[in-house]
Parts: sequence; structure tokens; C-alpha cells
Amino acid sequence: MKVLKFGGTSVGSAARICHVADLIGKPLERNIVVLSAMSGTTNSLVEISEYLYKGNVPGAQETINALEAKYNATLEELFPDSEVRSTAQSAVGRSFAVLRSYCAAPLTQAGEKEILAQGELMSTAIMQSLLSHRGIKSVLLPALDYMRTLDSGEPDMQYIGSHLRRLIELEPEAQIFITQGYICRNDHGGVDNLKRGGSDYTASIIGAVLDADEIQIWTDIDGMHNNDPRYVEGTRPVRRLHFEEAAELAYFGAKILHPACVLPAKLHNIPVRLLNTLQPEAPGTLIYNAPSDGTIKAIAAKDGITAIKIKSGRMLLAYGFLHKVFETFENHRTSIDMIATSEVGVTLSVDDDSRLAAIVDDLKHFGTVTVDTDMVIICIVGDLEWNNCGFQAQVLDALAGIPVRMISYGGSNYNISVLVRACDKVAALRALSAKLFD
Ligand code: ADP
Ligand code: ASP
Ligand code: MG
Repeated sequence: MKVLKFGGTSVGSAARICHVADLIGKPLERNIVVLSAMSGTTNSLVEISEYLYKGNVPGAQETINALEAKYNATLEELFPDSEVRSTAQSAVGRSFAVLRSYCAAPLTQAGEKEILAQGELMSTAIMQSLLSHRGIKSVLLPALDYMRTLDSGEPDMQYIGSHLRRLIELEPEAQIFITQGYICRNDHGGVDNLKRGGSDYTASIIGAVLDADEIQIWTDIDGMHNNDPRYVEGTRPVRRLHFEEAAELAYFGAKILHPACVLPAKLHNIPVRLLNTLQPEAPGTLIYNAPSDGTIKAIAAKDGITAIKIKSGRMLLAYGFLHKVFETFENHRTSIDMIATSEVGVTLSVDDDSRLAAIVDDLKHFGTVTVDTDMVIICIVGDLEWNNCGFQAQVLDALAGIPVRMISYGGSNYNISVLVRACDKVAALRALSAKLFD
């Protein structure tokens, strides 16, 4: 069994939805198809929630109307005959009724989660109707019936596995299962989600619990490129990546993969293939337990980073200083990305600055604290065994004209990270590509 996930752009219009139906409609084996919302939908749902939180009901209604018009146009294009359209139209109508029901009272967090869930509920209903109209039988696996998180926010793999297997066993003849990405229930049973871009994570959780043969992430580009194609020209797809390399790239900003998506696949040793819906024959990228090859594979950038420096004369020859610093971050449930130490101080970087003021207040007990905001981590990823000389030299050489605030190397064999100002990000990405890949 394979798991095939199609992202927002892959189902972003009537023509794209038809194209995905062509791709999934003739399976050679049993497949589970995970769908995202049509592109732009989740952004609109976020916008609706924001309007409602601010009490701006007319703003929310306007966005709901515009979104509904877009869906109605898509349905008319997909199903010109109104009778054939009625099943999909009813499902879409139910979702818009849910959205409108939230315009009547102040929005709660639970309400927001239900609003955000409507995109995937609609795209899967539309795809099922289309397949059925083409005479192809598919079975819906409602994500809200099996996808569940623990109070830690992590997926409850045991619950998911047993419930999903039971749903599949009920349909021994089925070849095509369709399910929603992104949405889930939390430990209280309320509707929730796996965070933005989370459909990739859905696919890899399903692949892991079912021990699938392969997880395929179908998107709008032919695999993981060696740099961010939104900022750098002439990037090229990387054909093979080790799980660890892909995990570093996803965590450090390669938008093509949700940061958490690689781990379940890696733990169960299930290959992940990144494929292009618009060019299905292109080989894409294979992520697996790749053998060591001693090369630099790709570069990614993670925005919105804050660097915090704690300088203390007492750190000199003292023990326990770093423990106290780390404990402060732990107390504020804030995870640390990069660390650099010297004899008189330490600098750490975080991407979540929601507790920054409180963290800084606490850290002041241990020394002088300086904060740099608007920073970016640039991550150079590959099979970078330290005794293969020269990687760091090439990276630093490429960045010769750019101020580097921090460097981290040696935490794993897979990355070198550097911290630069946000205003230097694009220049740094381009300089690294020119030096490492041209
Ligand atoms: P989907 O809607 O299918 O989930 P995403 O927009 O989340 O697609 O991810 C695909 C996009 O990721 C690409 O269009 C590309 O602009 C962006 N991207 C960023 N970094 C990379 C990279 N290193 N390789 C490929 N794509 C990347
Ligand atoms: N629809 C969700 C989002 O836009 C999940 C996804 O596309 O993966 O974030
Ligand atoms: Mg995505």
C-alpha cells in the first residue's frame, strides 16, 4: 500500500482537481490519497477567524462570500450538469453553513479550529464526487474518526493505527481511499489541526502506522531543490536525500515539507518520494536511508529568528551556568535552535518569541542580556562528516561579504548553520548557491 498526498496547488482549480483524479483513478495497488484544501482556502479561513476574533462580522462575511463564489465556480466547471453537481454542492454548502454559523457569536478557539477544518472537508468531498461521476469507487476515511493528538500535541500513533486499520478492514474490496490532510482531533476530542502545511505530516503518520511501502508527496515542483527557488534562480532538484538531511531541510525552512513530516517515515524506514503533479514522469526526490556520499545537498533558510546573548564574568571556570540558562528556556516552554558558547558567554537562538520578555527578565539574573531580532538561520545540509575536509571553508568563503552573527557545526554530521540578518538572507542564499553548486 502507498500513501499519496496532494497539496493545495495540486487541487487548486477545477483543471488541477481533474488532473489529480486522472493520477489516482487507475491504481495498480491499494492507495490512500491524502488531500489538502484547495490553495488559498486555509489562508481565507484564517482571515475569517481573524475578522471574527476582532468582532468584524462584515469583514468575515465578505471573505466567506468571496470564497463561496470561488467554490461555486469550481463546482460548475467540474460538473456542468446541476444534477450531477448536487452531491458535491451539498457538501460544500454544509461547510459554508458552518462558517456562517460562527458569524453569530464571539469566536472561541474551538470554533476557530472548526473553521480551519472546512478546506480539507470540502476538497475531499469534491474529489470523491468527481471520481464517482467518472464511475470510480473510492472510500472516504474521515480524518476526524481516526487522526488524534495527545495532550503534548504529538500524534497518538497507537490510537491512529488501530482506528485507521479498523476503517480500512471494513472495505476489503476498496482500491482507493481518500482522506483529509491537516485536520485531527485533540485529546479532548475537539476538532484540531496539525499546524499549517500539516497535510504532509498526515501522510507520513498514516504511512508509519500502516507500514506503507512508500509515502508520496505530490506538489508543484519536481522535488527538493538545492536552494529555495523563491529566492534563488537556477536551483536544481536533489535526487536522493538521507532522512536526516531531509529532516534538517524541512525543519530549517524548505517549505516543500512540513517540519515534522520526516520523523515518522524515518522511524519506520518508509521511503518518501517528492513528486510533481504537473510533471508526473519527473523522478523527483527520494528520501530514504541513503548511503553516505560526502556531498553538500541543499540550503534552506528559516525566518523569524531571535538571538539572545547572555554574558557573564562568572561563567569563567564555573559549572552549572549553562544548566541555569537552559532551565530558563524550559520553564518558558521555548525551544532553542542554535547555540554558540565562549568562556564569557553564550548565544542561543529561538524562533518562538512569544515569551521573550519574560525569558530576558529571568536571564538577567545570570548576566548581561542582549537581544537581536529579525535574524535568519541559513542551513547548509549534506553528508558533512567532519573528517571530509573543506565544507566549512567553502561556506565561510561564500559568506565573506556578509556579517555572520553565529555559526553552528558539529551537532550532527548533516548540517552547518549560520545566523545572519534578515536583510542579508537572499544575498547569503545566492552566494552559497554560486559557491557550492555552480
Ligand atoms: P503544497 O501546497 O503542495 O503543500 P507547498 O507550497 O507547501 O506545496 O510547497 C511547495 C513549494 O515549496 C514550492 O512551490 C517552492 O516554492 C517551495 N520551496 C521552498 N524551498 C524549496 C526547496 N528547497 N525545494 C523545493 N521547493 C521549495
Ligand atoms: N491546508 C493546510 C494549509 O494550508 C494544510 C496543508 O496544505 O498542508 O496549511
Ligand atoms: Mg505544503
